[in-house]
Amino acid sequence: MSKSYDVIVIGAGPAGYVAAIRCAQLGLNTVCIDNWLNEEGKSSLGGTCLNVGCIPSKALLESSEHYDQLLNQYVNHGIHAENISIDISVMQKRKQKVVDELTSGISALFKANKIKKISGHGRLLANKQVEIISSNKGKTTTISAEHIILAPGSRPVKIAAAPQDDEKIVDSTGALAFQSVPKRLGIIGAGAIGLEVGSIWRRLGAEVVILEAQDHFLSIADEQISRMALKQYKSQGLDIRLGACVTATKTHSQTVTITYRDTEGESTLKVDKLVVAVGRRPNSENIYASESGLLVNEGGFIHVNERCETNLPGVYAIGDVVRGPMLAHKGSEEGVAVAQTIAGLHGQVNYDIIPSVIYTQPEVAWVGRTEQALRSSEEKIKIGTFPFAANGRARAMGSANGLVKIITNAETDRILGVHILGPNASELIAEATLAIEFSASAEDLVDTIHAHPTLSEAMHEAALAVDNRALHQINKAIKQE
Ligand code: FAD
Ligand code: NAD
Repeated sequence: MSKSYDVIVIGAGPAGYVAAIRCAQLGLNTVCIDNWLNEEGKSSLGGTCLNVGCIPSKALLESSEHYDQLLNQYVNHGIHAENISIDISVMQKRKQKVVDELTSGISALFKANKIKKISGHGRLLANKQVEIISSNKGKTTTISAEHIILAPGSRPVKIAAAPQDDEKIVDSTGALAFQSVPKRLGIIGAGAIGLEVGSIWRRLGAEVVILEAQDHFLSIADEQISRMALKQYKSQGLDIRLGACVTATKTHSQTVTITYRDTEGESTLKVDKLVVAVGRRPNSENIYASESGLLVNEGGFIHVNERCETNLPGVYAIGDVVRGPMLAHKGSEEGVAVAQTIAGLHGQVNYDIIPSVIYTQPEVAWVGRTEQALRSSEEKIKIGTFPFAANGRARAMGSANGLVKIITNAETDRILGVHILGPNASELIAEATLAIEFSASAEDLVDTIHAHPTLSEAMHEAALAVDNRALHQINKAIKQE
C-alpha cells in the first residue's frame, strides 16, 4: 500500500511552497516534493524565484546600484570617494548568502508547519498516485493523496540562432553568475530579464547592447511609460535596438559574433558574453504520465479553469505552468486560493489586479489596465499624471525622473489602471493595487492623507490631477474622452 496524504504538492517554488504552507495551516496532512539541487548538489527550496530568479537578481541589482551611486551620484551630495573598485566575487558571495538564508528559511517554515519535504522528481500517475524518484539514490516510490497540486514552474526558452554553451552564451542563471564584468555584453530580449540583467552589468561597467525583436519597446506596459522608460535606459547607456531579429551566432575562443536583421538590413555585433532572455516555457513535460489523462494546452501550459482545477478532479495546477503572467506573487496567490478551496473555504485570485514591476532605476510598476487597452475598448476615461520632478522627496533623493499616471472611468471615477515610472515604484504600486482591489475612485485617494514629504504624495497629486486640481503642478485642461 502506498502512503497516503491529504495533499501532495509537486514543486516548491513560490507557487508550490506557499500552497503547501497554507494547506498545512488549514490542518491538511501535506507533502511537498521538489527536485531543485543547488551547486553543492543539496536540495534548495524556493524554486526559480529564490534560487536563480527574483532574489539573486534583486541582490545584484542592489549591489550594482550602490556602485553606480558611488561612482556617479554621491558627488552631487558632496561625497567624494577615491580608488573605487569592485570585487565581483564578494558581490556574488553576498548574493548567494541572501539566497541561502531565504531558501533555508523555507525549510524552517516547512518544519514548523509539519510539512513533509521530499527531495526528488514527482510525476502524476493515474488515480491521484504520484511516483517519486528520490534525488540522492534514485529510488522510486509511489504515494497518493486526495488532492494534488502541480507547481513545477518554468525554464528559459532556447532559440536555435543562439545555442547556449553555458560559458559565452548563457541564460538568466548564467548571467547572474558571471565572476567578472564582461567588457561587451549582448542580450537577446528586452523584457524584464533583459532590462534587469542589462542594468546590473551596465552599472558595473559593461557595454550593453540589447537586441529586441519587437518594434515596440515593453509592449505590455502603458505606452507613455514605455516611451519614457526607454529614454531613461538609453541615457544610462543601455543600447536597446528594436526590431532586431537575431539570425545566427558564432562563438570564438573569447567572443561571440551575433548576426541580426532589422529595418536597415543585416548587421553583426561582437560581444564577450551573450545572454538569451526571450521568455520562459512551462515545465510540464515530465510532470505527468500519459495514463494520468492530464490535459496540457498547446505551448505546454497545464489546462486549468479560473480556480486552477485541471481536467482531473482533485488535481490542481498553479504558478508558471498555467496561464497568466509568470510572476512569483501570481503563483503564490494561486497557491493560497487552491489550498483554501481544498479546505472548503473561499479561494480566488483576481487576475485583473496583479501588479507588475521591473526593477530597473527608475523602476517601472503598474497595475490594472493600460491607456492603449482602455482606448481600444472605447471606455470613457480620465487621466491624471504627476511628475516626480515636482515631488519634494524625489528631489531630495536626487531621483526625480518619471511620473505617476492614474486612469479612471470618466463617469464613475473608479480607478482602472495606475502606471508608475520612478523611484521606489515597486513599493508605491501597493497603494494602487489596494485601491483597485477595493474598487476605489480617484476621489478616495484624494481624500486619503499622504505623509509629507514622501514619494506617495505623487500618487495623491496624480489622483488630484484626474480632475485637474493637482496642487503642486500647473493644471492643464481636463482630458476627457
Ligand atoms: P518555480 O519557481 O520555477 O518553481 C518550481 C519548482 O518545482 C522548482 O524548484 C523545480 O525544480 C521544481 N520541479 C519542477 N518539476 C518538478 C518535478 N517533476 N518534481 C519535483 N519538483 C519539480 N517574478 C516576480 O514576480 N518578480 C521578480 O522580480 C522576478 N524576477 C525574476 C528574475 C529572473 C532572473 C527570473 C528567471 C524569474 C523572475 N521572476 C520574477 C519570475 C519568477 O521566478 C517565477 O514566476 C516564479 O518562480 C514561478 O514560481 P513557480 O512556483 O510556478 O515555479
Ligand atoms: P519576457 O517575456 O518578459 O521578455 C522577452 C522579450 O524577448 C520580449 O520583449 C520578446 O519580444 C523578446 N524576444 C522574444 N524572442 C526574441 C528573439 N528571438 N529575438 C529578440 N527578442 C526576442 O521574458 P523574460 O525577460 O525572459 O522573462 C521571463 C519571465 O520571467 C517573464 O514572464 C517575466 O515576467 C518573469 N520575470 C519577471 C521579473 C519581474 O517581475 N521583475 C523579472 C524577471 C523575469
